[in-house]
Amino acid sequence: MATHRTKMLIIGSGPAGYSAAIYAARAMMEPIVVQGLQPGGQLTITTDVENYPGFADVVQGPWLMEQMQKQAEHVGTRMMWDTIVDVDVSNGSPFTATGDSGDEYVADVLVIATGAQAKWLGVPGEQELGGKGVSACATCDGFFYRGKKVAVIGGGNTAVEEALYLTNHSDDVTLIHRRDELRAEKILQERLLNHPKISVIWNKAVESFEAGPAGALGHLKLRDTVTGEDSTLEVDGAFVAIGHAPATELFKGKLPMDEGGYLLTEAGSPKTEVPGVFAAGDVTDHVYRQAVTAAGMGCMAALDAERFIAGLEIDADGHAHEAEAAE
Ligand code: FAD
Ligand code: NAP
Repeated sequence: MATHRTKMLIIGSGPAGYSAAIYAARAMMEPIVVQGLQPGGQLTITTDVENYPGFADVVQGPWLMEQMQKQAEHVGTRMMWDTIVDVDVSNGSPFTATGDSGDEYVADVLVIATGAQAKWLGVPGEQELGGKGVSACATCDGFFYRGKKVAVIGGGNTAVEEALYLTNHSDDVTLIHRRDELRAEKILQERLLNHPKISVIWNKAVESFEAGPAGALGHLKLRDTVTGEDSTLEVDGAFVAIGHAPATELFKGKLPMDEGGYLLTEAGSPKTEVPGVFAAGDVTDHVYRQAVTAAGMGCMAALDAERFIAGLEIDADGHAHEAEAAE
């Protein structure tokens, strides 16, 4: 068991965490990134990424995240292959965090970039056909289904917005919902129900995602949630939109969050309620959820962290405290 002392501890190694690290390292804050169970974050489980600026050609998600990691290391970030299992922010800076390795991390500032995970249905074929027709992000993957037949599963705001977005690419969009009433806001419902390119299938649950002859998604097996009747729907793409779960279990009771579990920050800023603790990326963002927005928030967190540290005083033990305001 070791204790690692740093000016900035970054929890999470997705675009938000790596971008915060790049900025912090270049500002001589010698950041530590604790990578967690998914080094590189959500983009490591996708293939083509076409909307991250800077690349004229499609890049692969895992490759992009490898480059971000290398860039962060190149400028001086320490990467730790560990997962944080406990944090203490109750006494202000310095903050402590414990890894499941048993190591302890002591940091003047904390950047939380633990991301979020799309919820999946957990039915056969879903994971196997991920990236081959099954997706959880229309903004990311809709483009690949130009002129094809697609379905969206879910009945909340996300599902309706995904279906509406997909009409930019497809003339044949089907929303599949397990009940006969949508949870989405009325205005979105109206847009959906009046859209000529969208049809809705009510009271149907997806039983499985089935491959076609080419090995990619070919059709969905559906079950009527009222009658129990089975049916199939041929589609080229299916977008699961049943919600996301932010990775904030660690911070329950320690930092304010909304009812969905997303960390709350000051409007337009990564500052949480605790001075010196910042949140960036999908862990605080249920609206945009993109690699580029997560990276942008990581940059903002590092810049604000730098300013926070500049306002700290270091005591005789080497611990940082917020500077007393001048009389
Ligand atoms: P994440 O990428 O979610 O990373 C979170 C990190 O936190 C991970 O490294 C994880 O290991 C770590 N972590 C979690 N808990 C702990 C802990 N306790 N201790 C230590 N570490 C922890 N966006 C686009 O812009 N373009 C796309 O084409 C695109 N395609 C996508 C395809 C798929 C299949 C998915 C799922 C998402 C896609 N996205 C895309 C969305 C994009 O991946 C996310 O918006 C982005 O990754 C969010 O970045 P983040 O840094 O906030 O968090
Ligand atoms: P949500 O509101 O929780 O809706 C999830 C939907 O998925 C529900 O319709 C639910 O069905 C369905 N669902 C859940 N589990 C399922 C399963 N296993 N099988 C089939 N269907 C399942 O999630 P969300 O739409 O992602 O929205 C999350 C939050 O973000 C909400 O507060 C929402 O308002 C907000 N949001 C806002 C906007 C906006 O303001 N523009 C956009 C997106 C999201 P039931 O209805 O039967 O439970």
